[in-house]
Amino acid sequence: MSFDGEIKENCAFHIHNESTEKCTECKLAICDLDQHYNMKQERICPICANRYNAKKTLRLFNYGLYAIIIVVSVILLALRFPISYLFIPLLLLMVAPYIFRPYLLKLYFKDLEPQQVVIPLLKYFEISGNIQYYNLFLKNIKAIPEEDLTKHREVIIKHTIPAIAFNFSKLDENWEDELSDALKIEKGEFREYLTKKYKKIIIQTAVHGTQPNISKFMFFIAEETKDDDFLKEYIQEICSDEIAKLSDKELNTIYKDLLEELYLFEEQFYEICDKLKLTEEKEKIQNLVKRFVPPPVPKNQIEALLPPEQLIQKRLTEDEKIEMIDEDKEEQIEEVPFEEEKEE
Ligand SMILES: [Zn+2]
Ligand SMILES: [Zn+2]
Repeated sequence: MSFDGEIKENCAFHIHNESTEKCTECKLAICDLDQHYNMKQERICPICANRYNAKKTLRLFNYGLYAIIIVVSVILLALRFPISYLFIPLLLLMVAPYIFRPYLLKLYFKDLEPQQVVIPLLKYFEISGNIQYYNLFLKNIKAIPEEDLTKHREVIIKHTIPAIAFNFSKLDENWEDELSDALKIEKGEFREYLTKKYKKIIIQTAVHGTQPNISKFMFFIAEETKDDDFLKEYIQEICSDEIAKLSDKELNTIYKDLLEELYLFEEQFYEICDKLKLTEEKEKIQNLVKRFVPPPVPKNQIEALLPPEQLIQKRLTEDEKIEMIDEDKEEQIEEVPFEEEKEE
């Protein structure tokens, strides 16, 4: 999920250019300046092209590593070391990829200027949640000449917001200082982007494209900026008819992540509603939480093998049966709703 679609997308590598295509492999936006192709002659981005070239180096590295391990093992055995000493080459095999990793990343970003890697790094962070990418992003953004940064700041911020919103729980406590420092703007100015310029997109994404813990990010913005309107609009979007009118099944499929957020942060949501005197909205949220079907806990080993969706369906059917039995005491059942479900 990203904020694309709302914004005309620029090339991830040449920020000043509008993109003409997407990389076949990683889906980053590319422009006509990026002429790289894979084996199937499909357009790819410079990083994916570098990755192809790095494969050769990686293969050589692997052969070298195996050779060293074999030689070390042979020497250890020839010198009649106890067999348990073979853990040394084994350890080498395990740690080598970690030692090699920074070098490998350098190969991936070979021949790319700092301003060419910031957006790819943000995208990688947004999707993977790997903080290493974010730290590299900060490092690279500081290396962009001030003149270029001023020119591209707007686009960079546009991409920064979803990346941090989706991975808020992974950021340092002083992330805001670090980020505005790297972007060379005042913290207040950065907050304006959150609460004014991109407010609508942030709220839409938080509600309709929920990612785990995004409400923490929303509460944080509102609390830090003392912006009650921001929270009010967020809550009202959650309570919109578009969501409430869905059937239980649709709701628990399309808005599964949103319901889970409401369920997990239930108390905070109610507190906010009380504080902002959103009585009607509080009721609506209570209602949504009531309709939430938490992922069921498997009762036996057979159930443990079922995919979550199937297990949810099974529980729904079981619940309906129980309800029906209760109702059966008073009236005759005419329809059998869970039979219909099966036919779909
Ligand atoms: Zn790519
Ligand atoms: Zn380009």
